[in-house]
Amino acid sequence: MHCPFCQHEDTRVIDSRLAEDGATVRRRRECPQCGERFNTFETAELKLPAIVKSGDRREAFDERKLRVSFERALQKRPVASAAVDAAVRAVIDDLRKSGEREVPSRQVGELVMRELKKLDQVAYVRFASVYRRFEDVQAFREEIEKLERDLPELEKLQLSLLGGGGGAEPRRPRKG
Ligand SMILES: [Zn+2]
Repeated sequence: MHCPFCQHEDTRVIDSRLAEDGATVRRRRECPQCGERFNTFETAELKLPAIVKSGDRREAFDERKLRVSFERALQKRPVASAAVDAAVRAVIDDLRKSGEREVPSRQVGELVMRELKKLDQVAYVRFASVYRRFEDVQAFREEIEKLERDLPELEKLQLSLLGGGGGAEPRRPRKG
């Protein structure tokens, strides 16, 4: 690395230590020509992919938006905020590890659904009902039916309040 003081072409590492978070290495360097010392910091480059929305629009990944998706789905559900944080991190980690420069928003949606399914089934259905509305109505219906078979009665009631289909719609006799 060039010396930032005299532009000499080489500098010597005289000390190297790991920062407390374990994610950064600090190196102390010295220029053999002018004798100046300076620090450099080394971190892994793990960029998050851009998100490709419908119509080929691209936007930068936004953690805040991801969190809002979780919070909306989990509104008034008995899920600890630490668990929500962990779910958000799990999605971000997966996106990072994908190593892709861009991923379709659909893929992010699938990751959110995977995490919600582990956290809370009602929240999962809420999210899936909005997310899949335009994509795959049949798959969604099947998912609801599957959940309704597995869920206890109380949860079933909440599902029908969500308008999740398959619930008992009161039949009104027609007069006239
Ligand atoms: Zn120098």
